[in-house]
Amino acid sequence: MKQKKFILEEKEMPTQWYNIQADMPNKPLPPLHPGTRQPLTWEDLAHIFPAECCKQELNTTDRWIDIPEPVLEKYRFYRSTPMVRAYELEKALGTPAHIYFKNESTNPLGSHKVNSALPQCYYAKQEGTTNVTTETGAGQWGAALSYAASVFGLEAAVYQVKISMLQKPYRSSIMRTFGATVEGSPSMSTRAGKDVITKNPTHMGSLGTAISEAVELAMTTPGCKYTLGSVLNHVALHQSIIGLEAEKQMEKAGEYPDMVIACFGGGSNFGGIAFPFMRHNILDGKKTEFIAAEPESCPKLTRGKFEYDFGDEAGLTPLLPMYTLGHDFRPANIHAGGLRYHGAGMIVSQLIKDGLMHGVDIPQLETFEAGVLFARTEGIIPAP
Ligand SMILES: *Cc1c(COP(=O)(O)O)cnc(C)c1O
Repeated sequence: MKQKKFILEEKEMPTQWYNIQADMPNKPLPPLHPGTRQPLTWEDLAHIFPAECCKQELNTTDRWIDIPEPVLEKYRFYRSTPMVRAYELEKALGTPAHIYFKNESTNPLGSHKVNSALPQCYYAKQEGTTNVTTETGAGQWGAALSYAASVFGLEAAVYQVKISMLQKPYRSSIMRTFGATVEGSPSMSTRAGKDVITKNPTHMGSLGTAISEAVELAMTTPGCKYTLGSVLNHVALHQSIIGLEAEKQMEKAGEYPDMVIACFGGGSNFGGIAFPFMRHNILDGKKTEFIAAEPESCPKLTRGKFEYDFGDEAGLTPLLPMYTLGHDFRPANIHAGGLRYHGAGMIVSQLIKDGLMHGVDIPQLETFEAGVLFARTEGIIPAP
């Protein structure tokens, strides 16, 4: 059977992002200052993040937010991404379901991450920032950020989780190709890194340790801002480009989804594809089911607690209301590096509480089997 792909023409491309916060029946609880426990303003957050991202983070009123023209221009390098009907996979599974997948791997960085790296670096540059820093697990976010930094003329420093750096050394070369500085985390170059190594000399790192190091670098370096590849509301906002395209593509296919499924690390790719469809559940009475697939070894959605917790290991970030396994949770060294994170985004956490979506946890070996079946039927080797 031929593969059937749905692609949008340039004039059909979305020019705004969708902000689900405007439509949520209950808004996410506010992030809190770790010392005073008072809700944070965007000005507080702007000590660490680009200011425009902070405003987007706390924006609970504007449903649509314009994508800046220079970002749209770069989106057009690789968007729209194809929506594909997976006939061969359907056949192999013997299912009557119509399975479509949104292929975000068609840009040179190989993941959805660049959809948010571009606007974050664009805003940073507009605001006079010279340097950006971040964490990365498997290296996808670090690669996307390094590319976006080079596009907008910023210097990038990336802390990569040590276990991932050892498992996937070629990913560091991609980041260095775009001009970034890369260091394994925990490292000896920050206070937070030294503390972890002192307590646990064999600690192989987690997204939590790498975030601590990057936040510390941003706080102690003039002209340097921190960027995050998932979890936060503004990242999910930027990723809504995925679902907005998907909506139009499903229309072209003459279908509307009964279920929307995405893997879950911090929740940005899930939110990206799910939220534009979820708005029709909230506003128009649609009954689509939304499922987030998380690793069994890092099960914050299915077995975490809903509470205020830090986004990083050392406790340098604001307190975020989220489903969490505890900020000092040490995930097993599973291959899916980008999913080794202890918490879920604030929006997703509220949506789970409100019954608008749910999580499932899946063991690593089942994931590999499914991935191999997908590769052999659809010709794409997916990330675990
Ligand atoms: C980052 C990443 C994920 C996890 O995405 P979240 O938005 O953090 O949930 C999944 N797959 C790939 C390929 C990634 O790069």
